[in-house]
Amino acid sequence: MQILLTLFIFSIGSVFASFLNALMYRLDKEYKYPDIFTKPSHCEKCNKQLKNYDLIPILSYVFSRGRCTKCNSKIAIYYPISELVLGISFALFFLNGASWFMYIILIFLFCLCYFDYIYRAIPQVPTLLFGVLGVLNLIILSMIKGELVLNATISGLLLLLGMSVLLIIMYGVKKLNFRDGFEGLGSGDFLILFSLSMFLSTQQFWVMFWVSILLALLFFIPNSILGKMNLKSSLPLLPFFTLGYVLVVVYGEIIFEYVQSVLMM
Ligand SMILES: [Zn+2]
Repeated sequence: MQILLTLFIFSIGSVFASFLNALMYRLDKEYKYPDIFTKPSHCEKCNKQLKNYDLIPILSYVFSRGRCTKCNSKIAIYYPISELVLGISFALFFLNGASWFMYIILIFLFCLCYFDYIYRAIPQVPTLLFGVLGVLNLIILSMIKGELVLNATISGLLLLLGMSVLLIIMYGVKKLNFRDGFEGLGSGDFLILFSLSMFLSTQQFWVMFWVSILLALLFFIPNSILGKMNLKSSLPLLPFFTLGYVLVVVYGEIIFEYVQSVLMM
């Protein structure tokens, strides 16, 4: 029964991912209401309407070998991977009894990943909204506990400060262009990290940070050896922070204890 239920939660996650990706695409292309919800899905290249079987998450990609069934144009691998990841994340969250709040943060990060993947930039309004949610979370927690709760905010601030100094040293003040919003230089990523620090404990925050960096390196190093990437290519970091977040919610304690035991040796 547990297996069936977990499979069910997995499918909800992957269907939801497919829905969110389509929604972000439509928001990005400035669809108007109600079109944004009611217009049938179509291929980005040939504009032909998709059939129901083209909309099954992950499987439709596998069966069509990653191509549009009408015009044969390639479908980005981001879609099936993101559907798989959200499905697995939902299933893991479910098995570990994660709170509804953890799902909300995950969904928020997931939506922003879409823009980081397409533009290597994160839209400003939702990024700032995420920060506001973080502050609200601290205020509510403080009111419930009757004392000031900061979670990992101090660590987040230190990280933000450290990264700003590092960026200024690396690029000089002249190249930092704040008018362009949260793109290049990873400033959006660090604002997201700062907001996350308000949701996580200090231990969770640093485990998430280092796990994400490790995952990004594990992705970058083989790709650079194969010549597909170099130090100048911009790697979207938010997907790695999102993976780090999922891992820390599910396995945070285990990872922390393992690292501690290695360091003690
Ligand atoms: Zn097509």
